[in-house]
Amino acid sequence: MLQKTSPYMRQANLIGGEWVQADSGATIDVVNPATGVKLGTVPKSGRAETRRAIEAADAAFATWKKSSVLERHKLLRKLHDAIMDNQQTLAELLTMEQGKSLTEAKGEVAISAAYILWFAEEGRRTYGDVVPSPWVDRRVIVTKEPTGVVAAITPWNFPSSMLARKIGPALAAGCTAVVKPASQTPYSGLAWGALAEEAGFPKGVINIVTGAAGEIGDEICANPLVKKITFTGSTEVGKILLQKAASTVKKVSMELGGNAPFLVFDDADVRRAVEGAIVAKYRNSGQTCVCTNRFFVQAGIYDEFVEKLAEATAKLKVGPGLEEGTQQGPLIDMRAVEKVEELVGDATAQGGKVVTGGRRHALGGSFFEPTVIAEATPSMRFMREEIFGPVAPVFRFETEEEAIRLANDTEYGLACYFYTGDLGRAFRVMEGLKYGMVGVNEGLITTVEAPFGGVKESGLGREGGHQGIDDYLDTKYVCIGGLGL
Ligand code: ADP
Repeated sequence: MLQKTSPYMRQANLIGGEWVQADSGATIDVVNPATGVKLGTVPKSGRAETRRAIEAADAAFATWKKSSVLERHKLLRKLHDAIMDNQQTLAELLTMEQGKSLTEAKGEVAISAAYILWFAEEGRRTYGDVVPSPWVDRRVIVTKEPTGVVAAITPWNFPSSMLARKIGPALAAGCTAVVKPASQTPYSGLAWGALAEEAGFPKGVINIVTGAAGEIGDEICANPLVKKITFTGSTEVGKILLQKAASTVKKVSMELGGNAPFLVFDDADVRRAVEGAIVAKYRNSGQTCVCTNRFFVQAGIYDEFVEKLAEATAKLKVGPGLEEGTQQGPLIDMRAVEKVEELVGDATAQGGKVVTGGRRHALGGSFFEPTVIAEATPSMRFMREEIFGPVAPVFRFETEEEAIRLANDTEYGLACYFYTGDLGRAFRVMEGLKYGMVGVNEGLITTVEAPFGGVKESGLGREGGHQGIDDYLDTKYVCIGGLGL
């Protein structure tokens, strides 16, 4: 079957303004998860190519850091426009390599552009301080400077927007970047190189390498020219990068795994809670770090909630992302399907009841049926493990204290959600949940204006919001004396 191709589909790496292949000529195949058909290849780069990319970023930094904030603002606005002018094409490319529905892909491209615009604006507001001096004859000034070369490593579930949150603040702050997109979905990452060229960014400001993750990661961590690592991915790999980055004491931002709870109290608006549950669970076929992993529902409305959730879940249209009307695309690969199957098997062996779904989808490949499992218990694996698939386990609870305790019983602390009609309870629960982000009577809360990030083992730092540029700036304190006062 013929695949659609895209003018933004670059099958090369961008180093110092040149589109190049790996030194060895080796490549990695990129496969469309909806069809299993190869889309193309990308270079399998390693340490040497990564080192050159870092050196190119460092050389570009010497002049880029001196550009005016207004100049950077204007270029970022052009980048925003270039993305939106090509929203459809970029979304098609994203769907082809990642699998999500075209509607979701267009949404992701739009939010990528929105991050760029937000940081174009925030870049102009990276104020310092003039501090009242404790000395009569000295002045105290605090300024913010770009940190330097930033390395950005991104995952396959949001190959465009995860990069936008990193590239946007990095470039706005005056940093340069070396980017490593995930091998499953490299084209949306490489497209940023083509878009940046179109917008007029100088050579070397953005460099992009694809290939052997371990080798590229090792060079990034060991190379003293890299001043900051920003990573979105698994907690497991995040810990490896933290350890390795310690050797050169780099700044780090980590957006890691989640185990989001979704609490529904007896006093909630069940219709609204079900609507929120569908978005919070099934967006990107359950493959997001803020997707609900565990539903906790109070006993009084448990049966009603399960029934309505199962009804809404069964209506989700599963199909190839490019097909009109598709709401649920395939999972990223067969490994993901096997993991989901294992978790469902573990649950049913322990008394979990499959209310809808539960199996591989009739479409074959990596399609999986949207699934609801009732009578979930804390001994089941999805109490602790990220599902990363379209499975909704529903636990039952009796009291508010119990719900908060169960929700917090995890090493993760990224997003959580809860539904209640009681104002006092809303505050008690919001304050009781140990998470970086809380949705109260809302299942979709990500927006460029707000700080995205987690506590505990879900990560370090925040992306988006006015906070999202802080990690790309160093604070410099200047004490000025000898003023003849
Ligand atoms: P996921 O489970 O979402 O694939 P990973 O943490 O494995 O999450 O991957 C996220 C990103 O980290 C990808 O770009 C991947 O290639 C990269 N990666 C994986 N292992 C390493 C490593 N040892 N060093 C650096 N990057 C890595």
